[in-house]
Parts: sequence; C-alpha cells; structure tokens
Amino acid sequence: MNAMERVTIDDLLKGAAKIAVTGHVRPDGDCTGACLGLRSYLLGLNPAYMVDVYLEPAPAVFSFLQGYDEIRLYTEGEYDLCFVLDVSDAERLGRNAALLEHAGRIVCVDHHVTNAGFAPESFINPQAAATCELLFDMMKEEQIGRETAECLYLGIVHDTGVFKHSNTTRHTMETAGALMEKGIDPSRLIQDTFYAKTYLQNQLLGRALVESIVFCEGRCIVSMISRKTMEFYKAAYEDLEGIVDQLRVTTGVECAIFLTETEFRVFKVSLRSNRRVDVSRVASFFGGGGHIRAAGCTMTGTFYDVVNNLSEQIVLQLESE
Ligand code: 5GP
Ligand code: MN
Repeated sequence: MNAMERVTIDDLLKGAAKIAVTGHVRPDGDCTGACLGLRSYLLGLNPAYMVDVYLEPAPAVFSFLQGYDEIRLYTEGEYDLCFVLDVSDAERLGRNAALLEHAGRIVCVDHHVTNAGFAPESFINPQAAATCELLFDMMKEEQIGRETAECLYLGIVHDTGVFKHSNTTRHTMETAGALMEKGIDPSRLIQDTFYAKTYLQNQLLGRALVESIVFCEGRCIVSMISRKTMEFYKAAYEDLEGIVDQLRVTTGVECAIFLTETEFRVFKVSLRSNRRVDVSRVASFFGGGGHIRAAGCTMTGTFYDVVNNLSEQIVLQLESE
C-alpha cells in the first residue's frame, strides 16, 4: 500500500488498545520525533490507550519532547499493534526486532528508498523528507496538539538539515508551516537541538576536519574517529552528529565519507553526496541503506580496506556519468 492513498492513523487503530512504537538503532531526530510524536498523538486521541515507546537511548537534547522520559529500551511483551517508524529493514531494529514476533499487527511508516517492505503492512514514501512528514499526512490536523507538533517539527528539521537538503519540498515546508501554527517555538527548537554543540562535540569535529583526507582529485573526502579517540574523550555516538555534513560542504567535494570505529576493524560508515552519487546504492551494496544523498552501512577491515572498497563503488558511479 502507498502512503499517498491517505490511510489515517485512526484507520489503523481499529480495536487496538495496547500499542508499541519503535524505531531504528541509534535514534536520530526524525526517528525520536516520529516515535514520540505518534505517542503524543495517540494519547491525545484517547488517554486510555496504552502506548509504549521502545528505542535505544536518544540524544539528551531531545529530552524536552513529551514522553522522552517514558522511553523504554527493549521488550519481549505482547502488543495488539506495533508501529515501526523510520526503519528501512528489520536489522535496523536491533534488539527491538523481537517486537515483530510479538505484535498482532505491524505497521511500518518510513521514507527510505531502500525499504523493500520488510513489515507486513508498510506506508513508504521516499518523496517525504522525513518520517515525521509522512506521519503528519496520516494524522488529523485538528487533533495535533503542541507537544505532537514539537516532535514532528523536530524530525523534519533534523532530516532536512534545517530545510536545506534536496529532500525539502513544498510539501515539507507546508507541513512545517502547519506545525508552526500549533504554538511551538521553532527558532529555539532549531538552535537547541540542531546547532548547539558541546565543547566535546566541537573538539571531535575539529579533529575530524584536521585529519580528513581528500582523494579522487578532491571529489571525495574521508575522515575517521577511532575507538581510542572516542575513549579518550569519553564520547558517545551522538557526539559525532553533523561531522559528515561539514565534510560534505567542502568546496569541490561530491561525496563525503565519515567512519566511526565501533570495534576493532569494524566501522560505522556515514555517506553523503551533493549532486551525482546515489549513496543509498553504495550503502546497499555493503548491506546498509538510506537515502540518495545520505546513507550508511557497517563495514569490516582496516581503515584503508574500507575506504578502498567504498571508493571503488563511488568511482564506478562518478565514471558512469
Ligand atoms: P547517518 O549517516 O546519519 O547515520 O545515516 C544516514 C541515513 O542512512 C539515515 O537515513 C539512516 O537511516 C541510514 N543508515 C545509516 N546507517 C545504516 C545502516 O547500517 N543500514 C541501513 N539500512 N541504513 C542506514
Ligand atoms: Mn528519517
């Protein structure tokens, strides 16, 4: 089924009372906003609903969102209905993939081009800038309160890089506009959750930029943060948010690669492109996924193995045009 057909959240609820909501590992703004926004919307419809949100720890800058303190880690519990949000494949659910086995009905709402429909029921629209934008389309606007609007607006802000990425459409802006009318404080939300950086985050960004390497005649740029560095700074994964986007804006760069060493010779790979390279294809080739201009995967080997393997796929695309 297609999200364009405008199935509403209300249509999906039919008789469900025990509802679980979950998203992908290492939740970002869109994932956290979508899960908490849906929770807040459902409780607004009927406070008697039981709505449990299951996510890995979400960045503390999102802690002002309603329901953040109620987020749970994992479950083996049974639910009538489980919403799976901003998740492109079952692997991205991590331990919460268990929910797929324990829910009466599973509904996935997502905007990843690489989502092949792993869930029994899916509403996938890769044209949507954010899962939060899709959720808005499935909600009744008059039922959206300020707290829900804050969550959805935050998700859109984060997945569009504050309305600047190429995924931002007229519909994205109109959705954000409608959410602004719900009494949120957009400037503050953008400043506090997107632009504000801790001293530690800036130090890590600085290191990544200083140590970056350009190749392919300046069309590609790569940088890496090692486990040793992460341990030295006592840094968490969320402290690296935004580094790959800073690499991407280097003049002349088409494709940016940022690697985080998670274990010995294991790297979390973040890919971004500007105009030509479809990084979702590169990430999918290595078992990951994402969007055309922003994607990721996990790869093993030395730093040089990983960069060589990635650059081979990137160059294939650069040369085919
Ligand atoms: P980021 O680089 O910010 O971690 O992720 C960019 C995009 O790629 C996000 O939409 C995210 O969902 C997707 N992505 C990142 N890592 C993976 C991965 O390992 N597997 C899949 N399927 N998608 C990923
Ligand atoms: Mn998203």
